[in-house]
Amino acid sequence: MTIDAANPPSDLKPTHKRSANRLLAAVRRGDYDLIERHLLPVELARGQVLFEPGDDVVTTHFPGPRTMVSLLIVTRDGREVEAATIGREGAIGGIVSAGNKPAYGRAVVTIPGPALAIPTATLETLKAASPAFSDLFSRYADALLAQLMQSVACNALHSVEARASRWLLATHDRAGEAIIHLTQESLAEMLGVQRTTVTGVVQSLEERGLIRRHRGRVEVVDRRGLERHACECYAAVEDHFALLLPEVDL
Ligand SMILES: [Zn+2]
Repeated sequence: MTIDAANPPSDLKPTHKRSANRLLAAVRRGDYDLIERHLLPVELARGQVLFEPGDDVVTTHFPGPRTMVSLLIVTRDGREVEAATIGREGAIGGIVSAGNKPAYGRAVVTIPGPALAIPTATLETLKAASPAFSDLFSRYADALLAQLMQSVACNALHSVEARASRWLLATHDRAGEAIIHLTQESLAEMLGVQRTTVTGVVQSLEERGLIRRHRGRVEVVDRRGLERHACECYAAVEDHFALLLPEVDL
């Protein structure tokens, strides 16, 4: 995708304003003035691939409220498993690597919605120009790395049911509503397990009164219960994020 930075939009919808993305909302006013004219409002569609492994990451996206992107690791036989969930609290693109470096994973939109896009090269120029701006993104990169590290432990050590609960909590936070549009096939793909395994897990969570299944949707009915049922990874990642980025609301 290319961005016409010379003709920035003047009438942004509320969902496309700075406050819609909490990482951008934490950028200092003076620095935000520098970045604002380069941000292009876009609508991300469900299943849209932002980049594939090996692609040059030429665009960085800041998801708006309710928009969610999954960073997936793809194996040679075509299977994939989620390594990180990114929503309104963050950005996906030229964050961990500086500049237009090849992507290692696949970024897929799991909850469609608005986002703000910026050429990664422009973002890098702005980071070089402002130590405060660069520091904010460095701390975000650390938080994202922590999430990736936690996923390694989670995938190796925790039950599919606990992992599914963690994923539902993270998605519930970003979706901003109790109903999550989700098929059991896509949950199985996220968790890197068989569809039949997920069917049993979802049934068990429903029997515990934590969620309710609808066609193509899952409703979170007992958020506190789901938090108790999830593995420690959900809280560990959230707590570390709050420590690194106290100025960013989750
Ligand atoms: Zn875990």
